[in-house]
Amino acid sequence: MPQNNCIKCTVQQCKYHDCCNNYCTLQSIQIGTHEQNPTAIECTDCQSFQLK
Ligand code: SF4
Repeated sequence: MPQNNCIKCTVQQCKYHDCCNNYCTLQSIQIGTHEQNPTAIECTDCQSFQLK
């Protein structure tokens, strides 16, 4: 799949990561949180992640 230039990502362990340019290859992604009251970057998650 070609990279989606609108979604930059550095999670190389994800099967939707393009190998070389640090982009996602999905057309869209779902972002969410595992916190009840998110207050920092670390509180947010890419919920489209799938292990390679
Ligand atoms: S699905 Fe999420 S974690 Fe995976 S490459 Fe795309 S943006 Fe990155």
